[in-house]
Amino acid sequence: MTAFDDPTATEEGFAELGNEVRLRVLRALSDALRDDDGLLSFSELRDRVGYEDDGNFGYHLKRLRGSFIRKTEQGYVLRARGLAVVGTIFAGTLAEGEHQTATVDGECLFCDAPLLVEYSTGQLVVRCSHGHAVLSNIYPSEGAGHGDLDQLVSIVGTMTAQQLELARDGVCSNCYGEMTPTIEVGEVMDYRFRAACIRCGMQYTTPVGMAFTRHPTVVSFYDRHDRDPTEECLWELEVSQPEAITRHSGESPRFCVAVTLADESLELVLDDTAQVVRSERTSRAN
Ligand SMILES: [Zn+2]
Ligand SMILES: [Zn+2]
Repeated sequence: MTAFDDPTATEEGFAELGNEVRLRVLRALSDALRDDDGLLSFSELRDRVGYEDDGNFGYHLKRLRGSFIRKTEQGYVLRARGLAVVGTIFAGTLAEGEHQTATVDGECLFCDAPLLVEYSTGQLVVRCSHGHAVLSNIYPSEGAGHGDLDQLVSIVGTMTAQQLELARDGVCSNCYGEMTPTIEVGEVMDYRFRAACIRCGMQYTTPVGMAFTRHPTVVSFYDRHDRDPTEECLWELEVSQPEAITRHSGESPRFCVAVTLADESLELVLDDTAQVVRSERTSRAN
């Protein structure tokens, strides 16, 4: 059951928040959580919010109680939903961001052309002049890293790698609904990873290996070669390259993502829902 099935349930929640005093209450309680034990008495809370009328202030608190704040014997404290509201406001999820563009190191995964990063209205895209996107994701306008696009690209790259990990496990990081991961025939690449949320419509389309940069087998393989894939640029990793995947001969439908570092290769055999069936490491020396 979601707010889309029963809009009144969430609309009432939002209606309680459509008031500056109540938002200031949530902010004061989040400050208290950051600086101390998170508890504020009625009068401490009223002083921090800068409100004079006791009766009216009590009314505002009453409207927030239950859903967003909790009253205990020691005072008022933020509930998880209240903390989520404060997080959304600080992240600027609903705010307009300023438009920024810059060139970025590295080259396009699909055509080797130079790359450009563009940020506008809550979305970051790294693409080449032919329109191939190597990274594209939602990122709120007050998130960390603004003012420095290189840092922003690095944060969104890390975040995307983690979200792809969740997507492979069938979880949408936008609404926490169910995602269906698949390997399918691509257009600019032979095979691609695709995961779509059956609820909110969020979707990822990437080279297959790019969805595996946080997989333990891949991380430990890089570690054997003194590298940490979590510290490197997502689209420059060998495993992320579109040509790393091939159709596995024999059994079907099976795919194989292969990475070679120095004299050693790692092969991940995948089924068509992007789950690892088995993995194998081979050394050229043997
Ligand atoms: Zn390109
Ligand atoms: Zn979703």
